[in-house]
Amino acid sequence: MQHADLTALRDAIATGAASAEAACAAMLDAADRLNPVLNAYHETFRDHALAEARAVDADARAGRPLPPLAGVPVAVKDNIATVLGHTTCSSRMLGNYRSPFDASAVERLRSAGAVTIGKTNLDEFAMGSSGEHCHWGPVRNPWDTARVPGGSSAGSAAAVAAGLCAAAIGSDTGGSIRQPASLCGIVGLKPTYGRVSRWGLVAFGSSLDQVGPMTRSVRDAALMLDCMSGLDARDSTTADRPATALAATVERPVEGLRVGIPRQYVSGANDPEVNAAVQAAADAYRAMGATIVEADLPLTDVGISTYYVIAPAEASSNLARYDGIRYGHRAQLRPGEDLFTLYARSRSEGFGPEVQRRIMLGTYMLSSGYYDAFYKRALQVRRRIKEEFDRAFAECDVLLGPTAPTPAFGFGANADPLAMYLCDVYTVNTNIAGICGVSLPAGHAVRDGKHLPIGVQLQANAFEEDRLLRAARMLERAFAERNAKARPAVSA
Ligand code: GLN
Repeated sequence: MQHADLTALRDAIATGAASAEAACAAMLDAADRLNPVLNAYHETFRDHALAEARAVDADARAGRPLPPLAGVPVAVKDNIATVLGHTTCSSRMLGNYRSPFDASAVERLRSAGAVTIGKTNLDEFAMGSSGEHCHWGPVRNPWDTARVPGGSSAGSAAAVAAGLCAAAIGSDTGGSIRQPASLCGIVGLKPTYGRVSRWGLVAFGSSLDQVGPMTRSVRDAALMLDCMSGLDARDSTTADRPATALAATVERPVEGLRVGIPRQYVSGANDPEVNAAVQAAADAYRAMGATIVEADLPLTDVGISTYYVIAPAEASSNLARYDGIRYGHRAQLRPGEDLFTLYARSRSEGFGPEVQRRIMLGTYMLSSGYYDAFYKRALQVRRRIKEEFDRAFAECDVLLGPTAPTPAFGFGANADPLAMYLCDVYTVNTNIAGICGVSLPAGHAVRDGKHLPIGVQLQANAFEEDRLLRAARMLERAFAERNAKARPAVSA
């Protein structure tokens, strides 16, 4: 039985109307059937998942109190550490790595009763916007398998959209939760920096990375965040705040909501249907009594160049640990070859081309003589971007715009790295400023006879997830009919 969303499934399990084991088995069967096409999962954990689900069913039958995610199958992006199975980052470098610990986010979801159903594919080390850079082959979009699902949380997005799990978690450094959510027609939330522990998330850009939920509804995103967020002694960058309690308030519309539309967001460079979706969202908000205000974010365009300095710089430093000795794939040495050759060959064999490009860019930009010109300058612009958002949020509660400039594109369509980087123009600044953002479905475009989802993004200031998700829920309600017009072509 397919449930509308995770919350509905959770309720059905708790009341005995559904069996956790049956729901889990159905998703695993669907994953077995569809994964050869979608390549969403790197691996699934059938025996473990079914055993856990059975235990939840027994608790439900016995009337024991159940935790908030009891029995719901959740997929985990494969750059988030799990004791179960592998944690590969879809890289040859970590091809046979098994983590001795669970990431904090995973540990919290498990203690809330969630069942880890599998690990999902990603662009290697979370670097990419299409799901094409996975060592074990690309992920396909369930709406049109000739197109990409977006990235880097490609497998998590495809698995949620195709019904191969109830929800998933991803990581977002510059858009990797929101952009694939947009291209796959689901909800993706990037929490405020510091909201969710990064402990156990394989580091990419440590000042930008956040773990967050990818779900079929806004209320699911609220519930998942509630179960994952809060101070963690193992990550000193987590904010000293209690876990959120958003599921309780998410149905309440925001009174007197002020929605800002940055004039830079409705650009002629966007697909016209993307701009039309933003316009439709503005109209829907107006009809609900919200005030639409024009906002100004002149630094929108420099976000990409700022991000593509900071993120590679941090990546080059974070990825230095994979030397083939302490961490990662180790190359074979021939007699007489030295340690340096071992490092160089291990890293050349272990990292794919996009990761190598980032390491080289980052190392160059951090090198003496270039540091001031690139990295330091990028940090100065970062500060200005943050100030610009602060000014905008003085006038409005949330900012509305596109998540991505286009719907899902074809494989190879953005083979030029610069073209690929431009896909992130509306998402990177959220991370640069450390604020929160959510992508939610806003109808479809039709291409080659196939329906392709379009997403819109809402952003709110740091730690304003309550307002962000309540505003998102308002739009989700208003768009229910619009979004119900089509379903993914490949789905459980
Ligand atoms: N697409 C962006 C990049 O390649 C964002 C990735 C992410 O958020 N992990 O860096």
